[in-house]
Amino acid sequence: MADTPQRPANTAVRATGGVRQVRPKTEGWQQQKDAEGRPLLQFASPKRGKPPVHLADLTPEQRVEKVTELGLPGFRAKQLEKHYFTHWTSDPSDMTDLPAAGREELVAGVLPSLLTEVRRLQTDKGDTIKFLWRLHDGALVESVLMRYPGRITLCVSSQAGCGMNCPFCATGQAGLTRNMSAAEIVEQVVRANALIRAGGLGRAEHPDERVTNIVFMGMGEPLANYARVMQAVRVMVDKKHGLGMSARGITVSTVGLVPAIRKLAAEDIPVTFALSLHAPDDELRDELIPVNSRWKVDEALDAAREYFDRTGRRVSIEYALIRDMNDHPWRADLLAEKLNARGRGWVHVNPIPLNPTPGSVWDASERSVQQEFVRRLNDAGVPTTIRDTRGKEIDGACGQLVATEEDQEAAAR
Ligand code: SAH
Repeated sequence: MADTPQRPANTAVRATGGVRQVRPKTEGWQQQKDAEGRPLLQFASPKRGKPPVHLADLTPEQRVEKVTELGLPGFRAKQLEKHYFTHWTSDPSDMTDLPAAGREELVAGVLPSLLTEVRRLQTDKGDTIKFLWRLHDGALVESVLMRYPGRITLCVSSQAGCGMNCPFCATGQAGLTRNMSAAEIVEQVVRANALIRAGGLGRAEHPDERVTNIVFMGMGEPLANYARVMQAVRVMVDKKHGLGMSARGITVSTVGLVPAIRKLAAEDIPVTFALSLHAPDDELRDELIPVNSRWKVDEALDAAREYFDRTGRRVSIEYALIRDMNDHPWRADLLAEKLNARGRGWVHVNPIPLNPTPGSVWDASERSVQQEFVRRLNDAGVPTTIRDTRGKEIDGACGQLVATEEDQEAAAR
């Protein structure tokens, strides 16, 4: 990447909403553009070799069929589920309840290896771990595991790269490599659980610890990979045939793909829903979130409100505070106005100071500006709390996940 660019003097002065707005110029990165010169949006996953089909890609019925096809009685599926989802193992030597003859082949066929660990970085005295994984076709993805008092959260990737092209997000700038399969998503959780059990995540609070919360805030736009993400969520919450996690502990975060938000609301799975808004006005949001060219601020907020109506789950609005870009007091007021116009008690706002990404001169808002932004929203009756951000030192924080050249080299070794 280029040398850290000097923060330029304020280079553009514009009037917006009747308020003079000074904004920094962005240098050092090139946003991908489509034929008409608009920021490129990639919805379709480039064609690549599909990952091998795995138990976690299948419904419980399909698992029984698969085992039967392999010439075994159907109840073997249940045993395999137990090994994978309860004991977090894909190692045939752990599965002594399966007949020794043909065991290796059976396990290789049903629980193929999906993620190869390339690198592991730790910070926060061992309470935060970033994993770099290589997928079967060489694509690289990351997940971040975080211990908090009383809970353990895993930030999972749903795509290798991302097609949404948001200029402040490192993943967005790298483009979309491909969709991940449901099992590739689930395997991130299973591997994290196995590591926690082995004592790999800081000091344990109790002996049967595991991941309690999932956030779809790693690489990718989860709602652009809808069917696979939903299959992964179903496996996460399934008590009999899956990981048995609580749906409330799972957060699906999106740039605002409105039809998919409606679909998600109609699923009978009350996951927590987060909308990455980052600006209350279309003029700025068109720039920060290129998909705003398809679905505008008001449409995204209406869909978020509908999510609350259908599920009763309070919605989160994500707002990365970027210095002199979107952190103006009038924008806090406009955001409060737009949220209150849709009712009370249905939403809370999670501002997060921008995490720096390579090549961008955009920076986090100053502390006093952050505090003023939060105060205005709270005063208007919108519950607002700055989101804790972890893993900055290991490039594991929101928006920083990107496989670098260095990662590629490590993966090739
Ligand atoms: N594509 C999804 C989920 C991945 S990003 C989405 O956009 O919601 C998870 C969160 O991190 C989003 O709210 C995203 O806007 C935010 N984010 C991205 N880059 C960031 C950065 N540099 N600093 C802080 N937050 C960032």
